[in-house]
Amino acid sequence: MTNQVRRRTFLLGGATAGLAAAGLTTPTAAAVRASGSATMAAGPFQVVALLDATGPFFLPAEEAFSGATSRDWTGARRVDPDAFGPDGTWNLDFRCFAIRLPAGGFALVDAGVGPAESPASAWAPVPGHLLERLTETGIDRADVRLVVLTHLHEDHFGWSVSPDGVPYFPNARYVVQRTEIRALEQAGDDVVLPYVVDPLRRTGQLDTVDGDVCLARGRGGAVSTIPTPGHTPGHQSVVVRGHGRRVVITGDVLVHAVQLVDPDVGYAFEADQDVARGTRRSLLEDAERGRTWLATAHLRTPFVRADAYPRHR
Ligand SMILES: [Zn+2]
Repeated sequence: MTNQVRRRTFLLGGATAGLAAAGLTTPTAAAVRASGSATMAAGPFQVVALLDATGPFFLPAEEAFSGATSRDWTGARRVDPDAFGPDGTWNLDFRCFAIRLPAGGFALVDAGVGPAESPASAWAPVPGHLLERLTETGIDRADVRLVVLTHLHEDHFGWSVSPDGVPYFPNARYVVQRTEIRALEQAGDDVVLPYVVDPLRRTGQLDTVDGDVCLARGRGGAVSTIPTPGHTPGHQSVVVRGHGRRVVITGDVLVHAVQLVDPDVGYAFEADQDVARGTRRSLLEDAERGRTWLATAHLRTPFVRADAYPRHR
């Protein structure tokens, strides 16, 4: 953890604001599609799903998840029927989440596919609509205090920094695992680092963190990052907990419902499929033990109960 994040944790902690309503919204996929957002409460925190984009993947589902059995696909179809397009197409959402913080302001988890000229334009449905979604939800970009990037893939950092290098969230610190940046540096990356990391370093807004970090506290709850490597080396997820409920914003620990019904199913674009499998299995097993909702980036419904679907193995 850096000093900046420690200071920020202090500033966001010790909430004096009244608790948000503890009611739980269980949005239907249709309702989410209609509004572009859905909200769930975990104690003093509210987690708002923000749909940036939707579109078909460039590979058929059976190529992206070549280890899945017909039984896996049957289970996945039951969980997330809208992900199945014609001729084996995988239809996926590109989703971000805002967390309303009881001390004021918001944390944003992931930043979608970005504008038309963003690096994700090579394969993802750009432009995304995150900025409109924020406006519709009543979130001013100036009130975003933290942007947590689960990992540095194009479809997750798109609205971090504009194509000319200006951060979209002027008052936010951008939280990325140090391992994620180090892996890109070691690989000699010349796309992601200059596009998103260097501009954030220049403005002093980059916060590199190591492992578990508490980002905010409220009465009866907290928001933390946890390392969830495999999809990328420094992948992290965000745990929002309060009043006995947990919402885990998974990033790409699972990208399709087929990995929810069978955590051993690998995804073609995981950096290390064995590590990713282990991470997915332990996250899901842990989630089943508590009252946990998974807040996913790419399923066609933003919130799914971790224990609602029987595992095969
Ligand atoms: Zn992704």
